[in-house]
Amino acid sequence: MKRRAVKASPVAQPCFCGRPLAYDACCGALHAGQPAADAESLMRSRYSAYVLGLNDYLLATWHVDTRPAALDLGADPLPKWLGLEVKAHTQSGDSATVEFVARYRVGGRAQRLHEVSRFLREDGRWYYLDGEIDGAASQASAAATATTIQGVGP
Ligand SMILES: [Zn+2]
Repeated sequence: MKRRAVKASPVAQPCFCGRPLAYDACCGALHAGQPAADAESLMRSRYSAYVLGLNDYLLATWHVDTRPAALDLGADPLPKWLGLEVKAHTQSGDSATVEFVARYRVGGRAQRLHEVSRFLREDGRWYYLDGEIDGAASQASAAATATTIQGVGP
């Protein structure tokens, strides 16, 4: 079993995506190349990839029809991701939707991203197709649209 050298951390610490698993046993395995078991797992691994700034992984898991030529996560200021909550996951054959709320902070303001993402499975692998953010269709990534999302203020 191949393991990456990671900083020593207690196994009890949950993965970035919120599942009660160590990163290596959760999104880390997908980031290392293991196919996602379902669309929700892929969506969670993409959230973790945003947290870690894994541009290559985000592009590799984007469907070829909607994938941007490049992904610039260096937007200023960078969002600090605070947590993920998956609200719903439905699958019908090789297509699936995942509804989620991601919380982040950008420029000192807490923000909330509510999106219904669509996924397609091709050759046994799931890919992110596009998503609707708060009812508005969008193919943009969560990070790229961060500044357009209404904040949930105190
Ligand atoms: Zn995870």
